[in-house]
Amino acid sequence: MNLHEYQSKARFAEYGIPIPRGKVAHSPQQAYEIAKELGGPVVVKAQVLTGGRGKAGGVKLAQTPEEAERHADAILGMDIKDHKVLRVLVDVASPIQKEIYLGVTNDRAARRPLIMASAEGGMDIEEVNRVAPEKIIREHIDPFLGLRDYQIRNLAYGIELPRELWKPFMKIAQALYRCYAESDATLAEINPLIIDGEGQLLAVDGKMSIDDNALFRHPDLAELRDTSAEPEAETRARAAGLSYIKLDGTIGCMVNGAGLAMTTMDMTKLFGGAPANFLDIGGGAKAETVAMALRIILSDPNVKAVLFNIFGGITRCDEVARGILAALGEVRVDLPMVVRLVGTNEEEGRALLDAANIPHMETARTLAEAARKAVEAAQKA
Ligand code: GDP
Ligand code: MN
Repeated sequence: MNLHEYQSKARFAEYGIPIPRGKVAHSPQQAYEIAKELGGPVVVKAQVLTGGRGKAGGVKLAQTPEEAERHADAILGMDIKDHKVLRVLVDVASPIQKEIYLGVTNDRAARRPLIMASAEGGMDIEEVNRVAPEKIIREHIDPFLGLRDYQIRNLAYGIELPRELWKPFMKIAQALYRCYAESDATLAEINPLIIDGEGQLLAVDGKMSIDDNALFRHPDLAELRDTSAEPEAETRARAAGLSYIKLDGTIGCMVNGAGLAMTTMDMTKLFGGAPANFLDIGGGAKAETVAMALRIILSDPNVKAVLFNIFGGITRCDEVARGILAALGEVRVDLPMVVRLVGTNEEEGRALLDAANIPHMETARTLAEAARKAVEAAQKA
């Protein structure tokens, strides 16, 4: 889950990282009021969960409250890389002497957190990494030892930070790492960390990504999720305890187990189709879970066929078949359906489905057969 800039910076501030004064506005009038209250020049910034807002015209400086209002009016409602701007952050604008990058992320290959700094702040760090990787100074962090001061000195030295800023830089780096670790983040980044007009360090932009699997122990962070930025079906699925991700294809996939779901998606592609979603209904697929999942799959107008791929391990196939039948009693499906049930009690499961004589439903014995049938059915529809 990604946090908005204003949410990330508020979190950083709790750890003692200096951020500009500012507030979120939902309307141009509000932006005017905030700018007036802050006094002096402000910067009006689109709050969307994507980068490169500056280049897209989503970050604008304003000298007066009237100008802030005009900028907010232009930015609110803007479309930045398919993200609609619903709010803007109005921050006190600072003169910038220098822009620095400072970020902590998870280096999967090294199996450790990685802290990075660069004198090339402000721009896209992936771009810096591509054209001049040597301009990013990196230190891997041993999670048991934590971030050591000598590592931060290495970063400060590497980016040629003026000596008088080393002390505050140490504090900021330590705070950022603590914030990252204690939030179960996969990314905590300040870009840019500026040297302002008075020669002080200030976190002007912030970004955090939180590991979804750890959100259960951070109710305060889970609350910050912006559901307006995700497909509605995903919000509903999460509430029902299902892992669902909407995709662009036409074959709705209802599968138990994440690995099997991935394989099923691949198989639809192998036969020339494309999955409409990733969906893992989990073990012990009960009728109500299947019904909820079916409703979510069918809420996507692109879906032309539904493919059930269920492996009965602990879950018995006859139970799943009953679940499917009960779900079909609640949810009307006019689309073709292909069901593959294998594993414990598969004969009983298939017999139940055959006996029910459901229109537009076919059964299949292998995954290849099921995927091929689903792709054909979707293409005919
Ligand atoms: P991003 O483009 O989405 O990463 O948004 P940023 O918050 O990083 O802003 C982009 C750029 O706008 C920064 O790199 C700065 O150059 C500029 N900017 C942002 N805030 C301020 C500010 O307070 N004062 C000034 N002068 N420029 C700012
Ligand atoms: Mn930025």
